[in-house]
Amino acid sequence: MKHKYLLKTLRILCFMLIMLPTVAMADETPEDPTEHTHVASSPVTENRIDASCDKEGSYDSVVYCEVCKEELSRDHCTIAKLTHKWNTGIVTKEATTKQTGEKTYTCTVCGAKKVTSISKKTHFNEIKASNYKKTYNKKSKTYKIKASCLSKDALTYHSNNKNIKVNKNTGKVTVKAKYVGSATITIKSPSTNKYEGTCLKIKFTVLPSKTKIASVINNDKGTLSIFWNKNVSGSGYQLQYSTSSSFKKHTTTKTIKKKSTGKLVLKGIPANKTYYIRIRTMKIVNGKKYYSAWSSSKKGKVKEIKIVYQLLSIEN
Ligand SMILES: [Zn+2]
Ligand SMILES: [Zn+2]
Repeated sequence: MKHKYLLKTLRILCFMLIMLPTVAMADETPEDPTEHTHVASSPVTENRIDASCDKEGSYDSVVYCEVCKEELSRDHCTIAKLTHKWNTGIVTKEATTKQTGEKTYTCTVCGAKKVTSISKKTHFNEIKASNYKKTYNKKSKTYKIKASCLSKDALTYHSNNKNIKVNKNTGKVTVKAKYVGSATITIKSPSTNKYEGTCLKIKFTVLPSKTKIASVINNDKGTLSIFWNKNVSGSGYQLQYSTSSSFKKHTTTKTIKKKSTGKLVLKGIPANKTYYIRIRTMKIVNGKKYYSAWSSSKKGKVKEIKIVYQLLSIEN
């Protein structure tokens, strides 16, 4: 019995030896005055990586204790990819009636580019316009070119001659004062969804002004003296005389090289035959001849009586 009692005592002693320091320590450390139940803050965002058009973004949603600032939770969240915002695009290759074109769009968010195809044009944007013939003027003069294209869009104009200017957008032509010559005016139509732009060249010519036969006189045998009004718009004249009123046959052409000349004497003209005479002003510009319209014709005839007079005068 005694042995049993000893064993029990020993057990209690051992227990006390093991437990004593623990109890003692707990007794020595005073209870933490800040000990509390955590108070969760509203979540804050950390480690944010913005999304782009081609990549997801992410961030951490973190909850801290408002009292001790201890991190209570952390969620990793993703941000969805952005969508490209395409601009209105520019035509980087015009479509024609033969091949497709290209239109390039740029993303205003990330600068990425995408190319779409433009279908072939079905028609040419044909232009309707005519050549112009105008007459010399002392003062500068303006004209409006009448032109249109199938799409009814605005046309553009260009002149190759600074004396015959054209407004690029309105087609208004301004001819320099006293100018004679010609310009090639290039008219362009735009490309549209349906039409391929085209180009048309027209001639804009300014001719010398007309002159007029003043008189046709027969004084001497076989001779007709022709007088006309001098014309400063030219550099000379061209004169025709013919037995045909239409100048279709039996017509002789004479060139007068000086604008200051106002008379020409035709010799060896047979008597009693009516001649029709007409004249036009001529100007040579850069080696090219420009003619006015023909004057109306005047009749002339060498009279027989003149021959008699001539003979008499010789006898005298
Ligand atoms: Zn806390
Ligand atoms: Zn983008």
